[in-house]
Amino acid sequence: MSSSSNSYKSRRRFVEGGEWIPPECKCRMKCVERTSWTEGIHGRRFFGCPRYKNNDEVGCLFLKWIDPPPLKSEFDLVRRMEELEEKVKILSKIIQRRDDEVDSLMKFRKVFNVALFVLVLMVTLLLFYYV
Ligand SMILES: [Zn+2]
Repeated sequence: MSSSSNSYKSRRRFVEGGEWIPPECKCRMKCVERTSWTEGIHGRRFFGCPRYKNNDEVGCLFLKWIDPPPLKSEFDLVRRMEELEEKVKILSKIIQRRDDEVDSLMKFRKVFNVALFVLVLMVTLLLFYYV
């Protein structure tokens, strides 16, 4: 028999009518479906020992992935998105700081215009008085 026929058989052991059939773990127990939350493989489902990290029972380290491994490009996209989110945060802070500067400059301009008006008025009065 060829190796492709063997892999076909092993796949048949886990899937029947489109449903996953939990395999037996090394303790000869029916596996339970779990979800991996390890960094880099968020949300990837697998079959694992029902006794693993369950109360005081030890269980075994049997693991059979249900979901295919995520593509490297998915990691790259997620990492790129996180980088861009960080840049957006920094740019938002810079924009806020510029807005504050513009606000204070506008306030200064108002005061400056009033001061300029008063100065021009005084000079005009002085010229009128002495001429
Ligand atoms: Zn087990």
